[in-house]
Amino acid sequence: MFFQYRNLFCVALAIGLLMAGSSRASEFMLTFDDGPLPGATDKVLHVLAGIRAEDGQPVKAGFFLLGAVQDAVERRKYFAPYEMWSEKGSLAAHPELVRQILATGHLIGNHSTHHAWFRWPWLNDTEAVREEISTWEKLAAGLLDPAAPRLFRPPYLVDTPAVRQAAAEAGYQVVMGVSSGDAAPLATPYAIVERVSGILSKWDQSIPCVLVFHDTRPATQQGLVEIVNALQARGFRLAHFDPARLKVRLPGT
Ligand SMILES: [Zn+2]
Repeated sequence: MFFQYRNLFCVALAIGLLMAGSSRASEFMLTFDDGPLPGATDKVLHVLAGIRAEDGQPVKAGFFLLGAVQDAVERRKYFAPYEMWSEKGSLAAHPELVRQILATGHLIGNHSTHHAWFRWPWLNDTEAVREEISTWEKLAAGLLDPAAPRLFRPPYLVDTPAVRQAAAEAGYQVVMGVSSGDAAPLATPYAIVERVSGILSKWDQSIPCVLVFHDTRPATQQGLVEIVNALQARGFRLAHFDPARLKVRLPGT
């Protein structure tokens, strides 16, 4: 009798552990903003080819690209005031990287033409957002499959009625996400893992968590494998980037 009770206790303990494990099994998807930039986007593509999603296949990510090169004057006009120095990509200047992203099976989204901060007084209306979206489209014409999903992510994840309206009018799905923290000046893979683990452990599991990385950031270029391995080791599940699964507005975004 004693042994039976002990067996029952073991079964209950095992079920409890399984349930505790499943409570941490949030899914995450990978997205990369601010390319395409040589020496950055190509590095990330190379690293991604060696990362497997939960189904065992090389993971598919989303790349939210910029349209045009930004010179010093444009940076002051468009970028947020706290990052005027930052180097970013351009699909007009680097179409070969756009082709490489598509050839490796990843998806591409519109991240505006100039990395516009839609809180500047001269950029905060629907017309300005519309202009940033449509200029990007002209620059991307001929590079993208017209039947591909139309995805838009505003720079700095600025979510305003003007952004939502302009994107909806142009037929775009807005894809927000959760910052990985890789844009912080002293970001390390360890700090990213700790930050993201904290978010995923509290995540609403009805929808995958879209993580926002930057292919332009050294911590991401050098640490992506380590970051994903650490998250998977903690029980979180890497899913392919699939915008059809995101047609719900993310909590807190
Ligand atoms: Zn960005």
